[in-house]
Amino acid sequence: MAGNRAQCEVLVIGAGFGGLYAVHRLRTAGFDVQAVEAAGGVGGTWYWNRYPGARCDVESLDYCYTFSTELDEEWDWSERFATQDEVRRYLEFVADRLDLGPAFTFDARIATLRFDERSRTWAAATADGREWEARFVVTAVGALSAPLSPRIPGLDTFEGRVLQTATWPKDVGPDDLAGLRVAVVGSGSSGVQVVPAIADRVAALHVFQRSPNFSVRVAHRGLDEEERAAARAGRDERRRARFTTRTGTALAGSGRSAIGLSDAEWADECERAWDAGYGYAFLSHFTDTGRDLTANARLADFVRGKIRTTVTDPETAERLVPTDHPIGAKRICLDDGYYECFNRDHVALVDLRTAGGLRATPRGLQTDDADYEVDVVVLATGFDAVTGALSRIDLRGPTGEALADRWRDGASSYLGVAVTGFPNLFTVTGPGSPSILVNVVAAIEQHVDWIVDHLEHLRRRGLSRSEATPQAQLWWDEQVAAATELTVHRFAASSWYLGTNVEGKPRRMLAYAGGLDRYRRLAADIARDDYRGFTTC
Ligand code: NAP
Repeated sequence: MAGNRAQCEVLVIGAGFGGLYAVHRLRTAGFDVQAVEAAGGVGGTWYWNRYPGARCDVESLDYCYTFSTELDEEWDWSERFATQDEVRRYLEFVADRLDLGPAFTFDARIATLRFDERSRTWAAATADGREWEARFVVTAVGALSAPLSPRIPGLDTFEGRVLQTATWPKDVGPDDLAGLRVAVVGSGSSGVQVVPAIADRVAALHVFQRSPNFSVRVAHRGLDEEERAAARAGRDERRRARFTTRTGTALAGSGRSAIGLSDAEWADECERAWDAGYGYAFLSHFTDTGRDLTANARLADFVRGKIRTTVTDPETAERLVPTDHPIGAKRICLDDGYYECFNRDHVALVDLRTAGGLRATPRGLQTDDADYEVDVVVLATGFDAVTGALSRIDLRGPTGEALADRWRDGASSYLGVAVTGFPNLFTVTGPGSPSILVNVVAAIEQHVDWIVDHLEHLRRRGLSRSEATPQAQLWWDEQVAAATELTVHRFAASSWYLGTNVEGKPRRMLAYAGGLDRYRRLAADIARDDYRGFTTC
């Protein structure tokens, strides 16, 4: 063991929802735990994504921890869908309240992780040479935390400013864009949030869209005291819902099939759901739109109709209407006035499907059709989702094999929390976990509880090595594939859920689509069965 290596039993990587809870649970269970975080503070994805308009699309009352009644009682959400700043402040509050800060080394991005079979320990190091050694590593590096910088030819010659939503500088607010000519590249969740947030201020706004997405209107509003009191009173029920619903949220949906309704009932129910502004939960308002193509088409048509009636120029409206995938097969977006922006004279859509290849010049962006002189280019171009943050670490198991190489032909794991060939490594929200398709905080709490329970199980038996078996991993891959086959995800042509947004990434579903409730039951069964599927010694 090197003398200047920090030693601990468990090293946690990440200070987002997953990392903070992991440190708390591990410490409470009596493990000697240390943690590292690449950013300068806590928050994970909510630390980095500070772009104007950034906010959560799951209701605040669901998008928070439930493990501590004290935390619940001390924190009041101010809005129904929290802003990035409020979620980040919530996580700072949790870290302070639980005194998690001292466990963390900030500004420490792990560059290498190596397992040594002889000592059964992982060695972790940053690029600048800081080192840790731990028996176990719990990665809580986030599913949407490895930003993708698109290859736009000539971007390095652009003389204006390039900003990326996923690494938005702390000191650039919407007012700093006032009076400037701005190009936004990308029309996923980040793009549709940033556009209405800056449209009022900028002199000209061009939105470069490669493929249209379904975006559902969420009217943001504050939570009043009555709603907060109701939330406090209903806390136990809300907590229970995390265990009993597919999505891990309290919103029950209408319980109605989209197919069985008459036209009048359908219109009525859809309008009600639209006006209620459920956020991401809009997708599960009907029982069958997530799995049945006919039901799905009915909902997709409803949203297409909304786009067409909102956008006054019919040609622009048609360009914004998605026709290449079922609604929900790609992650839906949630917006507050995105489509309305295109009715303004200084906002224009550039459809890259017809405009041709996107290039940059010193003065702006260019397509085959036209030149766009701009002062700022905003890249809202997404992430190497789920596997990216881990694959970017030079992470090698006992044979020297790199995790990135292992996943080159398709990411695979056991329950999304362990990978065969990489002992004593546990991945919160790894590939094959339900996390990105459900309330991710609910999934994170489950994963962390399950991982810490597993470590306690090993400790009780005096065991120091645990590795998923290839058979168990294969079984889980089959469950992930089978669950996908029962949903509309199988009809998506491209989606970050499938990894197709990253050049060279194999097309494979990155999440378990069978629901958080079912996942919990399967994971609990495995735990009860002495952690079936792990070889331990
Ligand atoms: P995204 O959904 O992957 O969208 C990226 C966009 O950039 C897409 O429109 C993509 O086009 C486009 N793009 C990528 N490379 C391009 C290129 N070279 N030229 C032109 N266009 C390019 O990424 P995101 O918007 O950051 O969202 C990712 C996920 O983060 C969301 O789905 C959501 O889960 C989460 N998120 C959540 C919230 C929220 O809670 N409200 C907010 C932001 C993000 P194609 O579609 O053609 O690839």
